[in-house]
Amino acid sequence: MSEKIQVWNPATGEIVNEVKINTKAEIDQALENGHRGFKAWANLDAHKRSNLLKQWSHVIQQHKQDIAEVMTLENGKPLKESLGEVDYATSYIDWYAEETVRIYGRTIPASSDSKRIVISRQPVGLVAAITPWNFPAAMMTRKAAPALAAGCSFIIKPAEETPLTTMRFVDLAHEAGIPADVIQYVNGYGTDVGPLFTASNYVRKITFTGSTPVGKTLIRDSADTVKHVTMELGGHAPLIVAADADLDIAVKQTILSKFRNAGQTCICANRVIVHESMVESYTAKLTEAIKHLKVGNGLEKDTDVGPIINEKGYDKIVSQVEDAIQKGAEVSIGNKFDANFENGTFFVYPTVLTHVSEAMAIMQEETFGPILPITSFSSIEEAVEIANRTPYGLAAYFFTNDYRVGSYLHDHLDYGIIGWNDGAPSGAHVPFGGMKESGIGREGGLEGIEPYLETKYLSIGNC
Ligand code: ADP
Repeated sequence: MSEKIQVWNPATGEIVNEVKINTKAEIDQALENGHRGFKAWANLDAHKRSNLLKQWSHVIQQHKQDIAEVMTLENGKPLKESLGEVDYATSYIDWYAEETVRIYGRTIPASSDSKRIVISRQPVGLVAAITPWNFPAAMMTRKAAPALAAGCSFIIKPAEETPLTTMRFVDLAHEAGIPADVIQYVNGYGTDVGPLFTASNYVRKITFTGSTPVGKTLIRDSADTVKHVTMELGGHAPLIVAADADLDIAVKQTILSKFRNAGQTCICANRVIVHESMVESYTAKLTEAIKHLKVGNGLEKDTDVGPIINEKGYDKIVSQVEDAIQKGAEVSIGNKFDANFENGTFFVYPTVLTHVSEAMAIMQEETFGPILPITSFSSIEEAVEIANRTPYGLAAYFFTNDYRVGSYLHDHLDYGIIGWNDGAPSGAHVPFGGMKESGIGREGGLEGIEPYLETKYLSIGNC
């Protein structure tokens, strides 16, 4: 087995860098160090932890441009999106730096006048994170920032495709003064590192963002040591356009939701469900708007849609499109591919498919590419029925100006994140996470620090 992982530029096929794969012994040592680091960090006063987090955010911002360039090189996303992600990633650090000093306990009136009851919150311990390649900075900070704020130590294994941004963030945390054994990274393949994390008695919590099958494995493997788990897993987001929707808003927000990161996000619209009276006009407007999106290398100015991360991702997209067309879907725009298997570069042009049916794989599975299938509904109950017909429950979007329709959809959609006339609902201040097989727990906002805290109850007698 190679001892190094080569990091490729998905836009050119060039090697950007290579990283050392850590051995089992090194990872075990890192876990022991993390456990040791936890004790001191948990005992550091909250104001000092808060200041160190603020300093971390500050040094990242000082390196914003070069971090964004590295992110585009290893992930492929347009530079403007990478710059945006650095800001988005630091917003989690800023938010949780503030929360650090607001981890409150409480008292409860006792059942006898000789007793006192005190409830306190304590960090769970060493947290191990496994993250995906689609947001190499933000997926890390929305785990690391609340963990460190709570007083936990933190170790991360980034995705093999995009370790460089994450490693840089960890190095900058050390530069900011956060101790080396409080935040660490290790590199390796998920199938090797995952079992070391889950088997370790030092690790008290696993936090994961990635595919549902891997999430299920991690939940199962965490059972032996009864670890806490937070899981941000797959999605299959419906986007409903009601009969009264403002089409300009719906189209603009659809594009915002769907084509960011070339459609490789777990909350991006995966199925559009349009009222039958609006299908033609919505499709025409969307198709027109898509004509202006530029596909290319993310480092080139004006690129809107970068490459697909790898051949596996590309194959899945192509097979979904082929399956849909073979089963009767019509192409409104796109169905255009530019693949160089020798170099390992894969570009997919934004594609809109109409006349889709539930028999097509694209209506059943997450796509992770810039493809939008459009189906129709006649009653709002039917729209909900279609939208909920999936084991996933991460994000759902709807467009309507009728508050009764909006309230009905909000009440009946089985999704953890709902965008009402809004295709970009994420933020450090809000609880992000899914229902059903899309996950367990929430990241961001007040809810995002809870999973890193234990509740300890003290009963004082003979007072
Ligand atoms: P994708 O197919 O989009 O890469 P994955 O869920 O496979 O999604 O990968 C997300 C993260 O999970 C990556 O860091 C990867 O290395 C890691 N991973 C993959 N398989 C496993 C596994 N069996 N156990 C733990 N982590 C894994």
